[in-house]
Amino acid sequence: MQTALPPLRIAPAGPGLSERGDEPAPSTGENPLAKFFPPYVEGDERLDRWTSIPYIFVHTVGIIGAGVAIAYGQVTWVDVLLCGLFYYLRMFGITAGYHRYFSHRAYKTGRIFQFILAFIGTTSLQKGVLWWAAHHRQHHKYSDQERDIHSPVQRSFHWAHQGWFLCGRYDRTDWERIQDFAKYPELRWLNTNFRGPAIGSVILMFLIGWLVRGDVMGGLRAGLWGGFFSTVLLWHGTFTINSLAHVWGSRRYKTTDDSRNNFFLALITMGEGWHNNHHYYQSTANQGFFWWEVDFSYYILKVLSWFGIVWDLRTPPKHVLENRAASA
Ligand SMILES: [Zn+2]
Ligand SMILES: [Zn+2]
Repeated sequence: MQTALPPLRIAPAGPGLSERGDEPAPSTGENPLAKFFPPYVEGDERLDRWTSIPYIFVHTVGIIGAGVAIAYGQVTWVDVLLCGLFYYLRMFGITAGYHRYFSHRAYKTGRIFQFILAFIGTTSLQKGVLWWAAHHRQHHKYSDQERDIHSPVQRSFHWAHQGWFLCGRYDRTDWERIQDFAKYPELRWLNTNFRGPAIGSVILMFLIGWLVRGDVMGGLRAGLWGGFFSTVLLWHGTFTINSLAHVWGSRRYKTTDDSRNNFFLALITMGEGWHNNHHYYQSTANQGFFWWEVDFSYYILKVLSWFGIVWDLRTPPKHVLENRAASA
């Protein structure tokens, strides 16, 4: 007998309920994937060791390593460049890939580039692509309402920023919300083995650094700045959209959530800072709706579209652009 559940509690799957227990199930009997995946189980909010230990380890090595290098005056422009390069390359994998493509299908591409996008995003160590996109769809469905899994309005800023990501409760992929991409075996494989590309990329940086400079220290520096420290920045850069972009900035559109537009956040996230635009109209490949709203992910997607690598980039319809004054 199920009694009243506390807020945000996940009910076990049952007849007439989705796996999350919050809405009618969409024809689960017809889902050919159902037999391959275990049901979404009830979890708790204790830290998940498989997420938290690597998270703390990468922070410790990245911050102490960078601190020591700075203190001893050992930072070169190559280190800074490496850090920036792998930050923005992987941010593109998250924003253009994990977010705009896999979560919102804001444009189209072929199966190979789809995998490349997922792979680049996966090296950012933000769990699997299908896990990420499914949880993000949940965020939009309930944004800043009781069932939003990372709302700084419903819960604390810290919870929205990283607490929800580190706890075991939301560690399972919500397959029901991502059936459109779960049909690709290579994406399911990447989703399960998401740590491999991240670890592999740091090892590769180490080896390249070692080869180029000709000593182990060259490898360690490349691994520190391109891998560890840039991953720390990338985590927090991405997480600001779940935390800061719901509390800091301006609101052009009246939405049912507290999403904001923020120029600074748009710079560090390649355009994701136009979060109020995005919550108002989610399916566009551009989140900066006007020319002054910088959106580097979109600029890159636009260039890729000239070469036929991506196509059918969705942009906001006229009524959305004209609606801004009325909604402000
Ligand atoms: Zn979104
Ligand atoms: Zn949001």
